[in-house]
Amino acid sequence: RKADIALYEAKAEGRSRYVLFTPSMDEDVRLREATDRELRQALADCDAQLRLHYQPIFSTSDGSLTGVEALLRWEHPENGLVTPDAFIRAAEESGLIEVLGQWVLRRAALDARNWPGLRVAVNVSPIQVRSHNFTETVREILAESGLEAERLEIEITETALMAASSEVAASLRELRQMGVACALDDFGTGYSSLSHIRDIAVDRIKIDRSFVQVVNTEAGAALVEAIVGLASANGLRLTAEGVENRDQYAFLGRVGCHEVQGYLFARPVPADQIARMLEEKLCVQPAQQNCDHPAA
Ligand code: C2E
Ligand code: MG
Ligand code: MG
Ligand code: MG
Repeated sequence: RKADIALYEAKAEGRSRYVLFTPSMDEDVRLREATDRELRQALADCDAQLRLHYQPIFSTSDGSLTGVEALLRWEHPENGLVTPDAFIRAAEESGLIEVLGQWVLRRAALDARNWPGLRVAVNVSPIQVRSHNFTETVREILAESGLEAERLEIEITETALMAASSEVAASLRELRQMGVACALDDFGTGYSSLSHIRDIAVDRIKIDRSFVQVVNTEAGAALVEAIVGLASANGLRLTAEGVENRDQYAFLGRVGCHEVQGYLFARPVPADQIARMLEEKLCVQPAQQNCDHPAA
């Protein structure tokens, strides 16, 4: 039935396709259009509605603050603070992610100027990386902000990288030649096998929160230990995400995970608080390197 079929522009794919139109999708589309419209408005005046929060990352060996991860927040005029999971996908599908991603990179680079020595990690979407001038934009932002390339790290999820075209991998290689590091985010949730690690051109692996959550089980502990062992043997740096309790931290320190990030240490905070943490030389207690298995 003709009326039930609508032409749906899959802009992110760069081609059109037909999809069946059901009432629930009708609602989805309306919601999506509203999001697109509002996101466009937010992007017209980025500094008014968009914010970056930064989550501190600490070394397990000496407890020092080594870096921060930039996390995007949208201060929606009516809905309040919106987290990225609610709008990144919409931004990717409408193509707005390019402008959005550029704003994030620039804002993070400018903020990082106030934090000497600190690494700043920025999440990127594969669609953004695929835009033809991505590496050029990064180069410009580094020049403009004066941020050393070595202090910038790009985070791309394992799933996104595995699904991405070779262009994405090529762009990441180019960035690495410039001195920008690359981290594989949410590691363990994708489909790459552990033995795949050595073939991936990244500097760091971020162990997903879902794995950190199960290190108190025998199987979970074994899995994380295997990831740490393999990554370390291949010269990769390791950060564990979503560390929420002391047992998890102790375990990660014991098996040799280099860095940790999570609510146990700090939540994502506005930029001025990072400056204060640096001033106060904030650090956390080093993880005990030889403590017993927390599950034992
Ligand atoms: P991610 O890069 O894996 O970031 C970590 C997420 O875990 C963040 O959620 C952070 O707030 C949350 N988190 C940190 N520590 C803990 C913890 O101890 N417990 C729990 N339960 N959660 C913790 P957030 O800020 O909502 O971001 C969600 C995702 O959105 C990010 O996951 C990232 O993939 C994406 N994202 C965030 N900012 C950007 C951006 O600027 N551009 C793009 N393309 N994606 C972004
Ligand atoms: Mg991330
Ligand atoms: Mg992650
Ligand atoms: Mg994530």
